[in-house]
Amino acid sequence: MDTSLSGKRALVTGAGNGIGRDIAEALAREGATVAVHGRSLERVSATLEAIQEAGGTAFPALADLADENAIAAMCSEACGNLGGLDILVNNAGICTLEDTPDMAPETWKAMLSINLTAPFLITRAVFPALIKSGAEASVIFVSSIAAGAHSAGWGAYAASKNGLNAFMHCLADELGGHGVRVNSIAPGWVETKMARDAHKGMAEAAGAPYEALYNDSMRGNMLGALLTPDSISDMAVFLASERGRFITAQTLTVCGGCVPGSRGSESSAERADALAK
Ligand code: NDP
Repeated sequence: MDTSLSGKRALVTGAGNGIGRDIAEALAREGATVAVHGRSLERVSATLEAIQEAGGTAFPALADLADENAIAAMCSEACGNLGGLDILVNNAGICTLEDTPDMAPETWKAMLSINLTAPFLITRAVFPALIKSGAEASVIFVSSIAAGAHSAGWGAYAASKNGLNAFMHCLADELGGHGVRVNSIAPGWVETKMARDAHKGMAEAAGAPYEALYNDSMRGNMLGALLTPDSISDMAVFLASERGRFITAQTLTVCGGCVPGSRGSESSAERADALAK
């Protein structure tokens, strides 16, 4: 029993950068052929090149996830190029942190569209391919510990990720009878553009120094650890592999220890306020 994904066929969304890129490269290193999703060839070319240079096989899978027709075409092409599908990683996401009166309805809708509706549309489109793969298949959603956020400004993002976890549970029951496993990974802060942008916004709103806030908040966990994307791709490889064969309908948290009330568990907003004083 090992984590080899040799012969498996994977689609990873938002794989041009950040966590998605790391997951795509990690799956390919384990032997999977990967459809690398992004908005344009330009945005996924670095991932494709990295996989190919390492001896792996990858295809581009292009679509703006706000476009339902583009999603359908991308899924059909990806499954065609791969000759089926065993691993689906719904990773792409966006994050805007604004209090309710400041949040334009368009921002709310965009967050739900990319973070929740697009994963539904993609999963629906590849449903027959997943059933065909049966016990070989694994669906992974990249959720967030912020699904359980109780902080001002996190409403839309938390709602989208909470919705994703709810969808995951129900989908796991639908697909369980076919042997397909379905899980969420809930990361804490991970060093990517999304995390940097979010901290810039929080620092600006509180009048706190960005660098100090970023360094403090990113390590706000029991281990005092700075999580990099490989912390999430390790979990994705595990869940996609034989080793995760009895794990389904679960949210697996990867955050360095982030239990509310524990050491280092202050919210980023509380840290920003403290640094602003
Ligand atoms: P990044 O912003 O680095 O990457 C997000 C990815 O999603 C990009 O590839 C982006 O493509 C893609 N994407 C966004 N909107 C669209 C769209 N309309 N159509 C197609 N692709 C789109 O973020 P992360 O890597 O940090 O985030 C990956 C996932 O992890 C997200 O779901 C996020 O919510 C989750 N997460 C991240 C955490 C963190 O601290 N970083 C913590 C918890 C969860 P493009 O480059 O073209 O914009």
